[in-house]
Amino acid sequence: MNALDRIRKICMALSETQEKISHEPRRVLPKLHQRILAAGGTIKFNSEPLLGEIEGIVIDCRGLSARDSQPDLRGVKGELILIETSEVELSRPVRLIHPRWPLYVIPREDNLFMLGATSIEAEDTGVSVRSALELLGAAYAVHPAFAEARILEFGSGLRPAFPDNLPRIAIDQNRIAVNGLYRHGFLIAPALAELTLAYVERGRIDNEVMQCA
Ligand SMILES: Cc1cc2nc3c(=O)[nH]c(=O)nc-3n(C[C@H](O)[C@H](O)[C@H](O)COP(=O)(O)OP(=O)(O)OC[C@H]3O[C@@H](n4cnc5c(N)ncnc54)[C@H](O)[C@@H]3O)c2cc1C
Repeated sequence: MNALDRIRKICMALSETQEKISHEPRRVLPKLHQRILAAGGTIKFNSEPLLGEIEGIVIDCRGLSARDSQPDLRGVKGELILIETSEVELSRPVRLIHPRWPLYVIPREDNLFMLGATSIEAEDTGVSVRSALELLGAAYAVHPAFAEARILEFGSGLRPAFPDNLPRIAIDQNRIAVNGLYRHGFLIAPALAELTLAYVERGRIDNEVMQCA
């Protein structure tokens, strides 16, 4: 089975169980940081080293900021709303079958629910009235008691994507650029990390995901 088949298989399995949208990034990231530190890694925040100044193997995961070397990257806007209510209990994420947007309601701890996520071909980071109406309408459609929920937060982000919306590992000697994770970054990051590691350790090339200069 080739790498993309594996990624597709993982995608299907996880989207079936909806696990991919039930993890809360704000809780997961500190745990990932701890694991990196425990494994002997160093994390430097608020630093922007120039790639050319770093010696040895560089794995460039800068997302949209890597447009200086990967100009065909684009940002796809995703908007979300965080609400709070004790009137509704969901044991798992609920995905709406919506004619335009695949919206979902994700239960989080402390009576929180995340309503997400739009997918818009735009690179601004605001949340539009239309999106807010659609997201809040989605919650209301799942359960009318959401009408009394408190809105805690509007948020948005840009997903880094290539024109074909597929991830890419671009190799140029000791520079390895991993990018284009689009809508599935949390989901496929482990698979891309494995492929990158296999290249670094054993020089293994996966022709579907990797491009060599
Ligand atoms: C609203 C929304 C909902 C989403 N929901 C899901 C979901 O349910 N499941 C899923 O799988 N995916 C989801 N995604 C997609 C996921 O967020 C992206 O695919 C993922 O964030 C891409 O990861 P990345 O690390 O490649 O890029 P990014 O997340 O853009 O990270 C790039 C990082 O590089 C840093 N950086 C930039 N320049 C430098 C530099 N010079 N030095 C050091 N660091 C630098 C940036 O600060 C940034 O932290 C969602 C996205 C959005 C916006």
